[in-house]
Amino acid sequence: MPDARILPPREAALDVLRRVWGYPEFRGMQGDIVEHVAGGGDALVLMPTGGGKSLCYQIPSLVRHGVGIVVSPLIALMRDQVDALRQLGVRAAYLNSTLDWREAQEVERACERGELDLLYVAPERLVTPRFLDLLERSRIALFALDEAHCVSQWGHDFRPEYLQLSILHERFPLVPRVALTATADAQTRTDIVSRLALGEARQFVASFDRPNITYRVAAKEAERRQLLDFLRRRPEDAGIVYCMSRGKVDAVADWLKEQGVDALPYHAGLDASVRQANQDRFIKAEGMVMVATVAFGMGIDKPNVRFVVHLDPPRSLEAYYQETGRAGRDGLPAEALMLYGIGDLVQLRTMVENSDSPPAYKRTERQKLDALLGFCETARCRRQTILTYFGEEAAKPCGNCDTCLTPVQAYDGTVTAQKALSAVYRTGQRFGVGHLVDVLRGQATDKVVEKHHDKLKTFGCGKDLTKQEWQAVFRQLVAYGYLCADPEGHGGLMLTDTATPVLKGQETVRLRKDPAGTGGRGSRSERSAPRRTAPEPLSPADDTLWHALKALRLELAREQGVPPYVIFHDATLMEMIHAKPQDLTALGLLPGVGGRKLERYGDYFLDVILRHT
Ligand code: ADP
Ligand code: ZN
Repeated sequence: MPDARILPPREAALDVLRRVWGYPEFRGMQGDIVEHVAGGGDALVLMPTGGGKSLCYQIPSLVRHGVGIVVSPLIALMRDQVDALRQLGVRAAYLNSTLDWREAQEVERACERGELDLLYVAPERLVTPRFLDLLERSRIALFALDEAHCVSQWGHDFRPEYLQLSILHERFPLVPRVALTATADAQTRTDIVSRLALGEARQFVASFDRPNITYRVAAKEAERRQLLDFLRRRPEDAGIVYCMSRGKVDAVADWLKEQGVDALPYHAGLDASVRQANQDRFIKAEGMVMVATVAFGMGIDKPNVRFVVHLDPPRSLEAYYQETGRAGRDGLPAEALMLYGIGDLVQLRTMVENSDSPPAYKRTERQKLDALLGFCETARCRRQTILTYFGEEAAKPCGNCDTCLTPVQAYDGTVTAQKALSAVYRTGQRFGVGHLVDVLRGQATDKVVEKHHDKLKTFGCGKDLTKQEWQAVFRQLVAYGYLCADPEGHGGLMLTDTATPVLKGQETVRLRKDPAGTGGRGSRSERSAPRRTAPEPLSPADDTLWHALKALRLELAREQGVPPYVIFHDATLMEMIHAKPQDLTALGLLPGVGGRKLERYGDYFLDVILRHT
């Protein structure tokens, strides 16, 4: 690596970014962060998943003397990052339990001899006397504490080993530290600052917007059919399908396979070796669908995950944002689709109410659930709703979510709500939605007749709405808390205290009208669109080139046993297609083509491009 250290930090950093990574500019706050850390300052960095956190410590590690020590709890991620860095010609290594002692010793030797730019290490190893000794003998550029929210008990990823990381500041007070996380809430941030002794650190809070992700939430009608329609429209894309339970993961994965979709399951109940193999395939394959519980995803930084589907709702908006954030890290268009129905909703409510958490905790859980349901039922821009929740102002609707693309009608639903609530009341607060809708629509089913519900005043008073429309009404009444599930969990609905003012006409209710055929089934325009294979629409000739470039990339990746994206990102292949460089110099100017990659792969890719132009 030629020495860039004689330049001032900002210029040195930009030089490394361009020469090594081949990226023309820093993104958002990266430039300021890199300059601050390269200059020796401590930093706390809050950026969404896919925001570009890694460069914030990788580049300062290269600009400063010595080795950058990166603490990361995720073994798969370490390997991936090291693979990617080596492709760039950066001297990177990791130390974790997957190495035998001889391999570990070699890494340690390289570290003390100053032959490493970056060393990744798990937190439990970092605080061992052996490793601390190694650090004493080595020259250290900085400490990067990735996934720093793991130090907070408030979140869901708490790792006790992280608490011991404050030792770094005591033992190495002069080495700059940068803590990074995608978890932004105030409590977590306070915990990070106090537990890691980062009181003096400068805080960088980036926007949490992920503009390239299209958000969609659709009513669950026939989930498998909806999912399959969605997948069939993107046959070559890689994506994740989240389900709540292990059983459902297995069932959906099996079913998809029967339908000819290349799908694999992932959950904590699988054998560790199977899990590892499935994850590996997902990372190294081009297009593939991983059906998984939330156990999957942490530590996967595959940049070309094109979609994330929630077949069951996530636990909270925080979880939703983290999970959907795994799509489109490469900045190209990506999609998030959630299917949700009244059954899910009732289940979520029941789980919160029946949990034996202490009252204060339960209150938080309830608030989080309300926020999630509010998001699902909103008639507003989804992105604005999420960003507002995270305390960020989004001035105007985004134009890239379902409610922006197909505006949702909100209407005064007071009378409709009254009909629904009184149907619940008059039938004795014991029945589920199916029966209630039959009563409202005047369907004299056996059950309706047997219970004499055809004699009720509400019988047939709701013929003006379809079955789906009534289901949407009930879903919203549960979401807003006017109705709740019966405590025994038989699926019956009961009134809550808040329903009384509505029934008495003292309160109005705004409801949203679900647009017909949204999300899973695709809007009409999307249905008639040609099958999309590349991340953006291409001419037939360019599409051929795209596939040829991908095939070459896969071949090169297979030879080395690395994921294709560490050779070049999809975004870089797209640049090649748009620019059609005719020589190596022109190829080297494209974003994502750094010096080392040009040297190693330039001829191969140029050859393919020339043959197709
Ligand atoms: P995070 O760790 O915040 O989830 P990453 O560090 O993995 O995000 O970065 C996300 C993606 O964005 C990566 O594929 C990375 O190569 C790309 N990226 C980051 N910074 C830049 C930049 N300045 N220019 C172009 N691409 C970038
Ligand atoms: Zn929007």
